[in-house]
Amino acid sequence: METIDIREQAERIEVIKGDITEMNVDAIVNAANKSLLGGGGVDGAIHRVAGPELLEETKTLGGAETGEAKLTKGYNLPAAYVIHTVGPVYQDGQHNEEELLRQCYDHSLETALANNIKTIAFPSISTGAYRYPVEEAAKIAFDSVLDALLQHDASELEKVYFVAFDDETYHYYQKLYDLYFA
Ligand code: ADP
Repeated sequence: METIDIREQAERIEVIKGDITEMNVDAIVNAANKSLLGGGGVDGAIHRVAGPELLEETKTLGGAETGEAKLTKGYNLPAAYVIHTVGPVYQDGQHNEEELLRQCYDHSLETALANNIKTIAFPSISTGAYRYPVEEAAKIAFDSVLDALLQHDASELEKVYFVAFDDETYHYYQKLYDLYFA
């Protein structure tokens, strides 16, 4: 049997510091709220750059539940698509937050795979206004992405970017990357 080494996936994941709206990928993921009608943080930034047509499309979607993911076009974004997912609001870690955050990543990746999206960029879902501790959230993000990369070769899922907007987020993602791949 072929042994699959996690380290072989190193080139298919990249942690970068920057603004996800500038990412030239097939799809960027939006940390949306249940209305899918825009909000603050990364959601607001994505709607601003994509333009009003994005809101027109999200109005037709009927919102989303926590952990769900829904696809739209990217309009004026460099990315062709936006995958909108709703992260859990972190309360105390005892309200299914871990499972729900994992679903955000899993369902976003499933949506990508089902739509021929091969390059995808994630923000740090739930760790802004929704207050999920970044170090724990990053681990969930990596676990989900690594599972998908191990199950689908590069012809299906080529590259996954984690886009950190601030130094603290970048630090924790980079630390995990080193832990897995150094
Ligand atoms: P949530 O409500 O899911 O917590 P936020 O948008 O408040 O979503 O925050 C999620 C993460 O997105 C935070 O780390 C925040 O700093 C980051 N963020 C905000 N704007 C951008 C952007 N333009 N590109 C990438 N990440 C961003």
